[in-house]
Amino acid sequence: MISKWMIQDSAQRVQTLYRRFAGRGLLYHRQMNVLVLNCGSSSLKFQLISTSLEQIDARTDRMLAKGHIERIGGAALLTFQTAENEPERFARPIRDIKSALDAALEWIGAEATVVEGVDGLSAIHAVGHRVVHGGENFSRSVLIDDVVLRGITDCIDLAPLHNPANIQGIAAARTVFGRALPQAAVFDTAFHHTMPETSYVYAIPYQFYRRHKVRRYGFHGTSHRYIAYQYRTIHQIPRDAVNVITLHLGNGCSIAAIKGGNSLDTSMGFTPLEGLVMGTRSGDIDPAIVEFLCVKEGMSVHEADLLLNKSSGLLGISGLTHDMRELIAEADESGDRRARLAIEIFCYRIRKYIGSYLAAMNGADAIVFSGGIGENSPRIRSRICDETDWLGLKVDEMKNAALVDGSEGIFSTNDSRVKLEVIPTNEELLIARDTVRLMAGVIS
Ligand code: ADP
Repeated sequence: MISKWMIQDSAQRVQTLYRRFAGRGLLYHRQMNVLVLNCGSSSLKFQLISTSLEQIDARTDRMLAKGHIERIGGAALLTFQTAENEPERFARPIRDIKSALDAALEWIGAEATVVEGVDGLSAIHAVGHRVVHGGENFSRSVLIDDVVLRGITDCIDLAPLHNPANIQGIAAARTVFGRALPQAAVFDTAFHHTMPETSYVYAIPYQFYRRHKVRRYGFHGTSHRYIAYQYRTIHQIPRDAVNVITLHLGNGCSIAAIKGGNSLDTSMGFTPLEGLVMGTRSGDIDPAIVEFLCVKEGMSVHEADLLLNKSSGLLGISGLTHDMRELIAEADESGDRRARLAIEIFCYRIRKYIGSYLAAMNGADAIVFSGGIGENSPRIRSRICDETDWLGLKVDEMKNAALVDGSEGIFSTNDSRVKLEVIPTNEELLIARDTVRLMAGVIS
């Protein structure tokens, strides 16, 4: 078992090594290209991002290329795109994550792919990995060495589908680039490490926390942290003055109460299943439903788990789709009752959480919307904030309607007690920035 101090110790050693390069002026006085990898059980997403230490600023950070390989393990679909061009799509068999990474790098390195500032793979200076679960071991991003890798392996029990894929991604990048190329792990759980016991301990016998580490971990941490960071940059306030509720509403959805710049509570729990209604996940339900369904439907516990993760949420209620845009179209064009109901329950659950977090935080300065739904749907934002004037949320519908397609801005009225705001998330950028800052020892 790897302990926290072993990880800290080893991370510091790796950092010292990279700092020696920095001392020779090799790395940090120019723009660096970081390959950001997000490896799932059957998919690999990547972005190649140009960033630098001096420029922690979205105007100078640039996404150079990105891609998505789906259905790894069979006839895969590959979508690649440079910053300037339309996406290119291919289909070809991809065996595993290593082959997927090879395919992505082959495309980046190909003569036909013109990526600004990238002339071959030697122009990739580091790799940053999105790692889903860091358990209690990892409270921040770290440079990867063997000790860290063992720490991530120790968390496989907690994320049996995700962490193995992340480990395969790290191993594949090591094989391709060699051990000398810095790689960093940025954890989905890390930002929520500041939650107090009152937020993370479940009301089940305490021995299960001690014995198996059953507790709330929270996920989407990189997204909530990025949104909080952007918020304080936009409003030019110090970190400890950030008192906001952040909403990440994509296919997966979560809400976080951020007080004094730190995560105080969040809706996802031991796994990403808890909390809000999501595309295919139920969010909160009475846990007794699991046994009841197992008995009534002759399901195994594993099948019940799959049902709650893959066939529930918007898809389960509507019986039509997990996709909010399609659901809105069904509700409008065919007046589908269950499509409407799914949207209503989705918004109502969020409103309840906002109320409870405002109570938990003793008020907040802003509620910030993000993710595919939060960034693009004025209608859902407005419905969530409907009849919340007692709480002090007042929508300016003109401003709300103007915030679509990734624009950033405030959509509350001037007299709204709590600001309502859209800040598009960018987890990949934060992973790239963390990677560069870790190499330079700016975060340790
Ligand atoms: P992921 O969590 O997989 O990163 P996204 O953040 O891209 O997903 O969010 C996907 C969700 O956002 C889908 O439900 C999609 O329908 C929804 N969405 C995207 N654009 C709109 C829109 N204009 N109106 C409503 N929902 C939208």
